[in-house]
Amino acid sequence: MTDAAALRQWDHDHVWHPFAPMRAFRAEHAPIIAEAEGFYLIDVEGNRYLDGVSSLWCNVHGHRVPEIDVAIRAQLDRVAHSTLLGMSNVPAIELAKRLVDLAPPGLNKVFYSDSGSTAVEVALKIAYQYHRQKPQRGAGFPACPSGQTKTSAPRERDLFVSLGEAYHGDTLGSVSVGGMPLFHEVYGRLLFQTVKVPPPVAFRCPAGFSGESYLAHCVAEMERVVVENAERIAAFVIEPLVQGAAGMLVHPAGYLKRVREVTAAHGIPLIADEVAVGFGRTGTLFACEQEQVAPDLMCLAKGLTGGYLPVAATLATDEIYDAFLGEPHEGRTFYHGHTFTGNPLGCAAALASLDLFEKHDVLANVRANAARLAENLAPLADHPHVGEIRQKGTMVGIELVRDHGDDSPFPPERRMGHQVTLAARRRGVAIRPLGDVVVLMPAPAMPGELIDRLCAAVSESIEELART
Ligand code: PMP
Repeated sequence: MTDAAALRQWDHDHVWHPFAPMRAFRAEHAPIIAEAEGFYLIDVEGNRYLDGVSSLWCNVHGHRVPEIDVAIRAQLDRVAHSTLLGMSNVPAIELAKRLVDLAPPGLNKVFYSDSGSTAVEVALKIAYQYHRQKPQRGAGFPACPSGQTKTSAPRERDLFVSLGEAYHGDTLGSVSVGGMPLFHEVYGRLLFQTVKVPPPVAFRCPAGFSGESYLAHCVAEMERVVVENAERIAAFVIEPLVQGAAGMLVHPAGYLKRVREVTAAHGIPLIADEVAVGFGRTGTLFACEQEQVAPDLMCLAKGLTGGYLPVAATLATDEIYDAFLGEPHEGRTFYHGHTFTGNPLGCAAALASLDLFEKHDVLANVRANAARLAENLAPLADHPHVGEIRQKGTMVGIELVRDHGDDSPFPPERRMGHQVTLAARRRGVAIRPLGDVVVLMPAPAMPGELIDRLCAAVSESIEELART
């Protein structure tokens, strides 16, 4: 293997890292990972780091899991990749059947892609096209004239509703439904029109509201926006229960269910983006289950393959799928498909990962770890530089503030979240912040004693920073 110094030089010279201010990054001596063992990453210099954010929220059972490794190797002995365009493959079919069996009721069809962003992009395009092709009320499926699609709504449904500070990915469609100014503002002129509803979170709520009255206001606003625009809305997009990238914003119980009720009452498809919350992180396999919500479209990625390989899926109801049926010349086809769609190696990994959920009762482990995280982190709640600790399952955000009294933020140039990350790294723990929110997202299968270790290192790191 190339020696560590040369690798670092080449990394600096040639690798453009995502979401990284590259000048600062190059000065940092970031770990270069060479291998992994269980829940630890190991760099080229032999340093070990507890993987505290599941390698960007995707790792589920740890690294180098024998059962997943064996499944991928066995698939490798058959075929690494073949296309889903014009043919099918064994693991993609088996995984689709498995996902449909596990998903909320009604999601009966699986469209594969390769990242969370594409899973969302696919859902947006399907929703938009669905309205153009769905049967008119009171009529059967309209026969479309050759090469054309038929518009059934009185006015085109081209408006998507999403939440303020939402994050759904980095492609332009998923950015359009995003609402994080830092990531999204610069592309404003390239994006399609959406309408935003306020995220139902009371931290730093506007003056004149109590926490409770603000949450009630957010629900009322959501209802108003849906009702007022009902005829134009193509779909409502939401991260169920937790807005991850916004800083682990946890929604109040009942909000998702209310969104489902209001959208259903107006015939508006609900897109549940379970890319971050799916595969156990909130304590159930899918977050929607906690409010008995069945969306019309559901986006999965990250943990789908146990965090091994880039496979994503957009699940859809039969009602939506059926609107795409017709003779080839009728133009109802969903003209979308990526080269590595339904990749057999990734699907084999996903099947092995789902087996492990059952074999090791990973969801029970998530619930135990959730309690353990809460207990370990409780002493931080009154820390002078902690504004709020937000948690759902094993998804945690610790919001750092200059002053616990008034929740005033640190100046961004101090990069406090980043400083905590560096302090944790010195303690052998790998985490990644969202601005000044310290994020912990241990793998669903992480053993409890490693949860203790993670919390201890992060608490010490916050302490260390507080002293500077
Ligand atoms: N949706 C949500 C809710 C996410 O958290 C993310 C990524 N963090 C995405 C979509 C995009 O996924 P990807 O990075 O795989 O494109």
